[in-house]
Order: sequence, then C-alpha cells, then structure tokens
Amino acid sequence: MKVLIGVVSLAGAACFDGQKIATAQSSRISTDRYESQHDGYVADFQESLAKLIVDCQTRNLQDAVDEMLPWQAAVDVASLSDRKLPQEVQRDIPLSLPQDERLWRIEFRTIRQELAKNLYLLSRRVLNDGNPHAAWRLIHEILWYDSDYGRARTLLGYEQYGDEWVTPFAAKKMRDRFVWHDKFGWLPAVHVERYEKGERFYRNRWYTAQKEAELRRQWVHGWEIETDNYLLKTNVSLEEGVVLAKKLEVFHEWFQRAFPAFFNTPAQLKVLFGPANRRRRVKRSPFVVHYYRNKEEYVRRLIQKNPQIAITNGIYTPDERTSHFYVDPNSDIEATVYHEATHQILYELNPKPRRIAVNEHFWILEGFACYVESFRPLADGISIGNPDYVRFYFAQHNLLEDGFFVPLDRFASLSKNAYQAPMHISERYSQASGVVHFYMHYENGLYRDAMIDHFAALYRPIAPGFRIGGMDHFTGVPYSKLSQQYRDYITGLDSNPNRLAAAIQAAGQAAAAKAAIPEPAGPQQ
Ligand SMILES: [Zn+2]
Repeated sequence: MKVLIGVVSLAGAACFDGQKIATAQSSRISTDRYESQHDGYVADFQESLAKLIVDCQTRNLQDAVDEMLPWQAAVDVASLSDRKLPQEVQRDIPLSLPQDERLWRIEFRTIRQELAKNLYLLSRRVLNDGNPHAAWRLIHEILWYDSDYGRARTLLGYEQYGDEWVTPFAAKKMRDRFVWHDKFGWLPAVHVERYEKGERFYRNRWYTAQKEAELRRQWVHGWEIETDNYLLKTNVSLEEGVVLAKKLEVFHEWFQRAFPAFFNTPAQLKVLFGPANRRRRVKRSPFVVHYYRNKEEYVRRLIQKNPQIAITNGIYTPDERTSHFYVDPNSDIEATVYHEATHQILYELNPKPRRIAVNEHFWILEGFACYVESFRPLADGISIGNPDYVRFYFAQHNLLEDGFFVPLDRFASLSKNAYQAPMHISERYSQASGVVHFYMHYENGLYRDAMIDHFAALYRPIAPGFRIGGMDHFTGVPYSKLSQQYRDYITGLDSNPNRLAAAIQAAGQAAAAKAAIPEPAGPQQ
C-alpha cells in the first residue's frame, strides 16, 4: 500500500450553533428575494444588447455583430469563480477608430458597465441581508461583465498598477524596479540581462550559475523565492523553486476566488464591502514552503518531530507554519502539493495556535484536502472534482465492492484519533473524499454553501465549551437522509481512473499519469 503524505497535528474547536443554522436557512430565502432584481438587471442589459446588435446589423457591421452575439448566451454563474481574470486593464477605445466602430464599442462597454454597477449595489444588499455566498457570486458576475470594476477587483485583493491588475505585493516590487521573470522569479530589472546570460548575483557579487548552485546546495544558503502569497526556500535550484512557487500561486489564486467564505467572517465582509476608506490593510505574511533536493534530506530535517516522516511525501507542520516537499523523480508531486497547501491556507487563516476538529468532524479536514488534490490548472480555467480521480474512484469501489460505509452521523462524530486509527484508515480517507465530492456537487451544489460554512466554522477560534453543528444542522437535512443521498450519489458517479490516466498520458504527461493510479490509496494527511 502506498502511503501518501504526512501528519497534520491540527486540532479542533467547536461551536454549537443554533445561530449558524438560522443563517444558513435564511440565506436561501434572501437569494430568492433578490433573484428577481438580479434577473431584471440582466434582462435590461439583454434588451439594450439586442437593440445594439440589430442596429449594427442594419449598418452592416458584421464584426460588431460577431463580437456581441456570444453575450446573448446565459452566463453559468457557478463556474465564473474558476475563471482566471484578465490581468490587463481594458484599453481606452481609440479616437482613431472609424466613427461607426467607435460608437458601438462605447455603447457596448457602457451597457456592461451599467449592469456591473447594478450588480454591485445588489451584492451589498444581499450581503446586508445575510448571504455572503450569494454576494461573492455577484462579485464574480460583475467582473464577467466589467473586468475593471474597481470595487470588485479590490475585494478580490487586486490593485491597479499601470495598465495591469496585480496584488499589492507585485505592485510594490514593480515600484522598487523589479520585474517578474518566468524562469527566475522577481529580479531587479537591471539584473535580467546578466541572468539570461547565465550569471547569478549572490552575496553582493556575480558568479556563474554553476558556481552559485554549488554554494547554495547547502540548505542554509538555499534560494528564497518570494511570490504574491508564498516564501519558498529551496536548495534544488532557482528555476525549480520558481516552477513550484508558480504552481502554488495559481492554486492559491483559485482557492481564494472559489472559497471566499473561508477568508472573511460575515462581520469582516461588511467592512470589505463597505465604504472604501474602511477597508482592511492586511499585513503581508506569506506562506512558508521548504523544498528539498531529495527524500533523504526531507526525512533528516523532519524526523525528530515526526517519527513517521519516512512514509510521507509531503507535510504541513502547523507549529512551524511551514509546508515541506522534496524532489521525487518517481512521482508527480502536484496532488501532494495541493493537499498540503490546503491544510496550510486554512490553518493560517488565523494567527492563533489552535486545534482543529480534534473531538469530532475530523473527516472533513482530510476529506476536503483529498478532494482538492484533484485540482489541475487548464489553459482556460481549472479542473477540480474529476470523478476519475483515484480518491473518488475508491470511495465508490469501497462502497460497492467491499460494502465499506460509515453512516454520515457516525462518520462526523469520529475524533481525530478515531479517524486515524490504523484499521480501515484508507477506507475512511476514501469515504471522506467521496463525501466532500457529494456535498460540493450533489444537485448542482445544493449543499455546497452549507459545507463551506460548516468547515469554515471549524477553523475559527471559538470559546471553550462551544461546539460546531454538523452538516445536518447546516443543511437542515437529517443525517439518515444525507447518508442515503450520498450512497445513491457515489453509486451513480461515473468514475474510471484508467480513463484519467489515459487522458493525462495523451496530454504528454506520462509521469503525472503514473502517480494518478497508485494502489488503493493510503492515508494522506
Ligand atoms: Zn491531510
């Protein structure tokens, strides 16, 4: 049995929560109430768009018609958070354009801006009415219609620098005359040419790349690569470190867009959506990641605190607030990286040392990280929750072939120790992955907001003596019914890990394919 990854000694708190339940239920009602306003704004936009298209048709402006027609299709709002936002600010419409073209372009932009403004005002009303999830969905929709809507960009953590939307960290680097280099990361602009010729700057002098690599092989002299959200230390190489840091950034950017509810309590959200001058200025505190040359070095550095480290292939250690990975030529580390990065992002939401879900609900901590392992960036967005991913396959296989199933109330009641007991640990990891898949995707995400609320509550510090309600409370559906729905859902999942492997191989990533079909998946923590 292949045992993946390491030990997270997180732990838990809980808050019994009649209030949370009330919030989760009232949010549905407020969504319905605002749905007609939302649809009214979109209908106004569509009416203006239709008029503009007809107008262009009568004037034989075929390019204009071709550009605008796709905007008549309905927008799949749920998938907008998986879309990467354009980095460039839209250019002004040039005065030099022919008059006809200039006019339709101005009009087309104006009606989109108008809709974005209405949706923004709506998002504030929705938020004030207690539905942060719906408010965030509106933010993504606003940026679909107007990718330069400043307030929505700010909410997602961007600022404008020149003609680009960047993070405050990137803006500071650029003000300090650094440039982002795809191979070497941030460099002083004046160093770029020499780096590209194979020279390296270290300790105030220039070396050859080869000499620098020799000097930095020792861990204490390793490279430190800073990106928007990460500080990655490595003695592998600068280039390999940048590759990993970029993966982490793409992942983090998506995670923050997809799950904004983790990052802000409802009270913090009101400040964020409120007047601009009350916005939080958060001190930069990057996620620390260590990336070692090989497994021996990884084990040597971590074994003292983690005697089981040798059976892992990556670990997040909450007491040091650091993720650790190593170069493994025999496997694709991507799944491991996203799993541990998830633990790290969620734990470090709060500076307070705390134990997460130690007495109950531990399944979701690992189930969610295993679900997120299936994250893969694509050219035009991301993929997550592919049913062919090995974790979901075994959730189904164990249920149907081996009859392994822990009813969801009992599953939720397991403490960290009970969950991690050696007997059937692989099966529990598989079921946890399957249950998260169910809560995320069942009936087009019917339970998704409730699950994120439940999980986010587990990560927040709470007063002693309080407990977090289970998914039965957050959904308002009894566990017996949820259990049956889960069994039906996972039974019907079209899952085939060989198909995934074939697809990855077809994409020319043989190494990744190999890692995607291990033997029955072991515990991954
Ligand atoms: Zn884990």
